[in-house]
Amino acid sequence: MAENKKEHYQQSMLYRIRHSTAHVMAQAVVEMFPEAKYTIGPPIENGFYYDFDLPRPLTPDDLELIEKRMRAIIAGKHTFVKKIVSSSEARKIFKNQPYKLELIKGLEDGGFDENGEPLGEKVEISIYSSDTFVDLCRGPHVEDTGQIHPEAVKLLSVAGAYWRGDEKNPMLQRIYGTAWETTDELEQYLWKVDEARRRDHRKLGKDLDLFSISEDVGPGLILWHPKGAMVRVIAEDFSRKAHLENGYEWVFSPHVGRAYLWETSGHLGFYKENMYAPMEIEGENYYAKPMNCPFHIQIYKNRLRSYRDLPKRYAEYGTVYRYERSGVLHGLTRVRGFTQDDAHIFCRPDQVVSEISKALEFSLYILRSFGLSDFKAYLSTRPEKYVGEIADWDKAEDALRSAIEDQKLPYEVDAGGGVFYGPKIDLKVNDALDREWQLSTIQFDFNLAERFNLEFIGEDGLPHRPYMVHRALLGSMERFFGVLIEHFAGAFPVWLAPVQAMIIPIADRHLDYAHEVAGKLKAEGLRVEIDERSERMNAKIRDAQNQKIPYMLVVGDKEVEAGKVALRLRSGENPGSMQLDDFLSLARSDVEKRI
Ligand SMILES: [Zn+2]
Ligand SMILES: [Zn+2]
Repeated sequence: MAENKKEHYQQSMLYRIRHSTAHVMAQAVVEMFPEAKYTIGPPIENGFYYDFDLPRPLTPDDLELIEKRMRAIIAGKHTFVKKIVSSSEARKIFKNQPYKLELIKGLEDGGFDENGEPLGEKVEISIYSSDTFVDLCRGPHVEDTGQIHPEAVKLLSVAGAYWRGDEKNPMLQRIYGTAWETTDELEQYLWKVDEARRRDHRKLGKDLDLFSISEDVGPGLILWHPKGAMVRVIAEDFSRKAHLENGYEWVFSPHVGRAYLWETSGHLGFYKENMYAPMEIEGENYYAKPMNCPFHIQIYKNRLRSYRDLPKRYAEYGTVYRYERSGVLHGLTRVRGFTQDDAHIFCRPDQVVSEISKALEFSLYILRSFGLSDFKAYLSTRPEKYVGEIADWDKAEDALRSAIEDQKLPYEVDAGGGVFYGPKIDLKVNDALDREWQLSTIQFDFNLAERFNLEFIGEDGLPHRPYMVHRALLGSMERFFGVLIEHFAGAFPVWLAPVQAMIIPIADRHLDYAHEVAGKLKAEGLRVEIDERSERMNAKIRDAQNQKIPYMLVVGDKEVEAGKVALRLRSGENPGSMQLDDFLSLARSDVEKRI
């Protein structure tokens, strides 16, 4: 969650409700298992959890019983009472709760008086009690359990969790739950969770044969299967053409570069922990690239640039490698190797406002072409530590802000949240489930032009420093593909669908005609397959529907005779028999409209 969103959440009623419901859940668990040792139970985004050390593993039936008890506790309208106690009092209260004693010890060790002396025994600790349950807690809570809607609470799952997240510690049982102000909100949330599971790109990636990750290759490294790769090829071709039409020049650069390059760029200084270890070639260290910038800079530097040559816009689908802990890797959206639709713009200071504006407009055009429409911009401005001149920063920030305002985008300013080398715009998109994804970034850079001593010869015949802007629109192809899969639940628009039409012959005697139809459609550029299996027609239709293929063309005796196809759509609609040419113009129009 973004910082300001988080703060807002922590002050909300929902946060109090969830915090309080976690206490109620812990009380219910302790009532069921008097020997239970309880640890911590914070509110989280969309709910709460609590970790327990229990005599046996919980079952789904247990969750139901716990939920039932929780409703009874809630109905008691028990007040939450806060009390400040000394640490020795706290230790008495929690004398049978070893995890709480450990937390109290931590508070004692971390508590200092105004002279910097450890407070130890004198440390003050807040506890909250409601009904029979007492917890070590800072709050806030609702006033009494009557403010929790008993039917808007649901326990979701149990998972293993190490005490303090450390695998050397005992494994605990974490119960996840959710709580809302109304039953409508709860239902809406449960629907979303369910829908998110149904749309999970890792599941659909497998079901639709789009991509895989092989342990033999390594975690976080994506294998694009033919159908996934087809979507990517179409997306890349479309976007490359648009780049060329919008004044970008296409470049290619290698996957590795000498240590010297990464020292000059500063990556070995401030980015090394994200880079793969070097490989030695003829006594020199080479690094897999975590970014494409230094390569594009070398292309810029390859000859003397005049003010008349600018702007230079170099674009590349550049594959980069970055180290991520294996624990945070996630399908396509968090990986170790990915391809950015990257570009670097080198321009004169007087061109920068229009360059930024164009880049943002172009970004929106590309994203909208993929069926995304709900955007929000985030402008990150000068942090405390920065390079460059304040006047340049101000100018750059103004350029970014006016570009956002020109596009009439809703936006938030993250004051001081920029990286040290320049302000940036992050463009986030809300998908079909209203989940926010970060895609485009337009990033100023006052650092690299300096470090690589970039120049252009001005009208005055003297060398000047160009401005440099990094920008990626889809972001990473892997991540973008993951977002698309989930946004469309695998049912890609016709123009992107890896297979656009499945021809379904009813019997073997219709195979020749099926091939004839396929030949004509392929000649028109459509991606077509024939289901030649000797399955029943309905089974073939169901399979094509499960594969989310936009058009199913059923051909039987009548169609063969009249030169027709019987069209069915993946939505279940059934437009029926039509001339092949009519189907073709329908398909062509869908592709053109990108629906
Ligand atoms: Zn609490
Ligand atoms: Zn860059």
